Amino acid sequence: MDPPLNCGQRLVLSPSDSHHLVRVLRLLPGGALVVSDGSGTDYPAILLSSEKRGREVQAMVELGAGAPNEADAVRSLHLGVVLGSFDRFERLLEQVAELGARSVVPLISERCQSREVSAAKFERWQRIAVEGSQLAGRGRPLQVLSVGPLEAYLAEGPGVLLHQSGAPLEGALQVVQRVAVGPEGGFTDAEVARALDCGWVCCSLGSRNLRVETAALVAAALCLT
Ligand code: SAH
Repeated sequence: MDPPLNCGQRLVLSPSDSHHLVRVLRLLPGGALVVSDGSGTDYPAILLSSEKRGREVQAMVELGAGAPNEADAVRSLHLGVVLGSFDRFERLLEQVAELGARSVVPLISERCQSREVSAAKFERWQRIAVEGSQLAGRGRPLQVLSVGPLEAYLAEGPGVLLHQSGAPLEGALQVVQRVAVGPEGGFTDAEVARALDCGWVCCSLGSRNLRVETAALVAAALCLT
């Protein structure tokens, strides 16, 4: 864990944050920025200097007084998403990070398409989640949790299992903290029964068949906006 940040502290930013600040945003010394500690506190800051270090750039900033981040969602929403196309999953991560979801857990279910996730892929997902959260100005980035079985996620419930033939939502998402989205082939009858046993409710987002990432996005928007 990183050491806590303090008012007045001088901080050397990581090569990628320095690059973004100096080469992409083109901030000049004396320019203002906000540094997040990743745990819900924002520090107004001033860029003191930027120096070339080989091909990289190194930015040094000075922090002002910390204050709670205002952009984090008040409610925490955890999304369990059965793995399918990795490209689509990455788009989903980007978008639910912006909408304010607290965590996404990639799930393995009976009709799941992809089971092997390399360490490099997992790191890439985490980077996408952090970048999407930063773009949205969040103080705590979306967490991507390790891949796990649907069964275990259901046991952490209760929550809302999204299923086309479920009951109409009728406000269920206004209070829910946990949502499960199925694979392209949907949840099996046994999985639906297991969810009900674990106290989950089965809800529909209407009579149209939505793509996995569309269903996740709609659920996150209904819960968090
Ligand atoms: N043919 C599949 C559809 C799978 S779509 C089936 O009959 O279930 C992939 C996932 O997106 C589903 O498992 C569900 O979690 C979610 N989803 C898609 N359309 C939905 C809808 N209209 N209502 C609720 N969830 C939906």
